[in-house]
Amino acid sequence: MSAELPAATGFLATVRQDAASPPRPAFASLGYRAELREKVAGRQLAATLIHAGAPDGARAQGRDTAVLIAGELYNRAELRSLLSGDVPDTDAALVLALLGVYGVHTFRLLNGRFAAFIVKGERVLLATDHAGSVPLYVAAVPGRITAATEAKVLRTALDGTAIAAARPVPWLPGVHQVPAGTVLELAVDAGTGTAHRTWAPPLFRRILPEGEAVEAVRAALERAVRARAGTGTPLVVISGGIDSSSVAALAAGTRRTRIDTVSMGTEEHNEFPQARLVADHLGSAHREITVSTSDLLRRLPHAVWAAESTDPDIIEYLLPLTALYLGLGGTGRRILTGYGADIPLGGMHRENQLPELDSAVAVDMATFDGLNEMAPALSAIGGHWSTHPFWDRAVLDTLTCLEAGLKRRYGQDKWVLRAAMGDILPHQTLIRPKLGVHEGSGTTSAFSRLLTGAGLPDGQVHQAKRLVVQELFRQVVVDGLHPDEVDCVAVVQRVADRQTQPVP
Ligand code: ATP
Ligand code: MG
Repeated sequence: MSAELPAATGFLATVRQDAASPPRPAFASLGYRAELREKVAGRQLAATLIHAGAPDGARAQGRDTAVLIAGELYNRAELRSLLSGDVPDTDAALVLALLGVYGVHTFRLLNGRFAAFIVKGERVLLATDHAGSVPLYVAAVPGRITAATEAKVLRTALDGTAIAAARPVPWLPGVHQVPAGTVLELAVDAGTGTAHRTWAPPLFRRILPEGEAVEAVRAALERAVRARAGTGTPLVVISGGIDSSSVAALAAGTRRTRIDTVSMGTEEHNEFPQARLVADHLGSAHREITVSTSDLLRRLPHAVWAAESTDPDIIEYLLPLTALYLGLGGTGRRILTGYGADIPLGGMHRENQLPELDSAVAVDMATFDGLNEMAPALSAIGGHWSTHPFWDRAVLDTLTCLEAGLKRRYGQDKWVLRAAMGDILPHQTLIRPKLGVHEGSGTTSAFSRLLTGAGLPDGQVHQAKRLVVQELFRQVVVDGLHPDEVDCVAVVQRVADRQTQPVP
């Protein structure tokens, strides 16, 4: 890992007045571990930070307040402009200073990719970014609150009481996930509390002339990419699709020197020619990584281990990226992706109907929370930090609320994005129809074949995928197995046998 990464990429933190020891910090995320023991407002704070060499930037302490933050903020200059006197130079110190001015409403101001644990007097504040893009879990009993950025870390803290304002994690009684865009405020003594929403997806739609819409999208995305590009050479994972190519082109625009790009494919499917076209156009230092289909499927337990999601479709999107991040090698990199653009733009919607497109946007924006599509552990299992400009708060707001006719226009999906990139991408890239990462890498078909090969008829494959992913979740999250210990073939066979058994 390197200093190019956030000060911390994950944490386990406990605040308590009893003598119970914190759970073992068994993270999927790689990184150095920094242990922290402090007294805050008369209570013991114990924490483990996952970091890249400079964990001090992830913690700050005031008189009766301690701040721990995993991840990073993208609107630092704006936030600093709200403060007078000494301007804090780390994200944790910035949040601490803002808490003194705005209290819990601080989190309405932040545009970032983070999870935060704050001890403030008698209370603990657990905060997620607008997208919940760094998952945050909690187990609370009167007198002890434990939180972590991975659910599996809390598997031995199972005595937690119910928290009405948070989402129970399947098969982990007492463990809850803090919703996206939320500050959960818990009293340490009681172990209970309330939730404050700090962001919600816009429900209204803006009507803009084409030119203004295109300019707004370009400006927001450019700012989001610049804020995420870091100071070294950014690495963009590209497919040659419009989303990742836009990010790569804008990242290249922030540099005088070449950026790095990489594409993955299997021996059966890849998008190498399309990605190469973009790489050549931008002059990036480009790599192609081929993963065999069997190696790709071998990573199924790793994808579930990192994302802690039980949704089979999400795991199919994330599996090729998991294989890519594990195959990158080298020291920890700052990685930019085009992930998530289709949700606010309705890119998965392939017909020409605006009501259906806007319904898809509305439903997807209302249901993303808890799927963990952007969990940083996905790249952190390879020691890397990934970040997704399309889910920058300002970009997401801009895209979501554009009227549907700007998203589908002149027979093109994601029209407004394509138009916004007109001067920096090749024409062929601009007109290329969407191809999902699960399709372009052959992941969906390979996973389906695994199940039909185990004897399942086509009609039962999707349900069987759900059962396989749930069983993998039980093993690597609930039971705490390392994914290398999981016998994935046996899991698939068991599911297939159960599904095809005649009903007695
Ligand atoms: P489009 O949606 O138009 O196909 P896209 O390919 O960039 O554009 P997705 O297909 O939604 O977007 O894929 C999500 C993200 O995953 C991409 O933006 C890219 O960052 C990454 N990705 C997808 N396929 C690959 C691949 N083969 N190699 C490397 N990264 C990929
Ligand atoms: Mg694609």
